Amino acid sequence: MKTINVGIAGAGLVGRVLALNLVAKGHQVTLFDLDSAEGENAAGLTAAGMLAQFAELESATNAIFHTGVRSIELWPSLLEQIGIPETYQQVGSIITAHHVDMPELEHFISQLRAKVPTALDIQTLDRRQLVELEPDLEQHSKAFYLPSEGQVNAQAFMAASAEYLLKHPQVTWHQKTEVIEILPGLVKTQSDEIEFDWSFDARGFGAKDDLPDLQSCDR
Ligand SMILES: Cc1cc2nc3c(=O)[nH]c(=O)nc-3n(C[C@H](O)[C@H](O)[C@H](O)COP(=O)(O)OP(=O)(O)OC[C@H]3O[C@@H](n4cnc5c(N)ncnc54)[C@H](O)[C@@H]3O)c2cc1C
Repeated sequence: MKTINVGIAGAGLVGRVLALNLVAKGHQVTLFDLDSAEGENAAGLTAAGMLAQFAELESATNAIFHTGVRSIELWPSLLEQIGIPETYQQVGSIITAHHVDMPELEHFISQLRAKVPTALDIQTLDRRQLVELEPDLEQHSKAFYLPSEGQVNAQAFMAASAEYLLKHPQVTWHQKTEVIEILPGLVKTQSDEIEFDWSFDARGFGAKDDLPDLQSCDR
């Protein structure tokens, strides 16, 4: 396979995942980010890391659901690549609500079951079953258990991916560097214009000025 030279604007969660996948296939990667490699302003540094494909379905399309399912399959090997496989867990999620909000939650769960066949494995828990799974939720008398959801330790991922990529011979990382324009095969900073075989925009919400319809996750 031909080695390609890739420029990535934004070294947050998405930029790092992309870079890891590219170097694993032998490609050359250049990352640009406003931040240092610690990613102090990246959403990835504060993310809870829930791989909650069902919960997203309340407001997202089925395409987002299937992307979430695929991402659950892909995370373990990515974490293996950077030496932190133990930070992944897939032991399911629990959703519960206060008594007054329970009808709304029940409605949400029945919508899920109607939308996605695999949502049929969502289990309804009574208080005893709930406390067995999570003793800290004993004040709730009802909950739902979604056995196929998972969790990534996003902070551990940000730290380990930085360490791995900074040492990698196929990676150049321009820290504290603002990208002012991205064109096909070209990344422009204040001081440089660098050509690549491929350029990717992974600036997250930083791309808002160029993509006015972009929405943050707390919309
Ligand atoms: C509090 C919180 C909790 C969350 N919990 C979850 C969760 O449980 N599960 C889940 O799936 N998702 C969760 N998310 C969402 C998830 O964190 C984001 O979807 C993900 O981090 C987005 O990654 P990103 O790389 O697109 O953006 P970011 O991680 O924000 O990275 C964007 C990067 O681009 C850089 N950048 C921006 N503009 C420029 C520029 N002009 N030049 C150079 N660099 C630039 C920034 O410095 C930053 O490093 C949560 C988010 C938050 C804030």
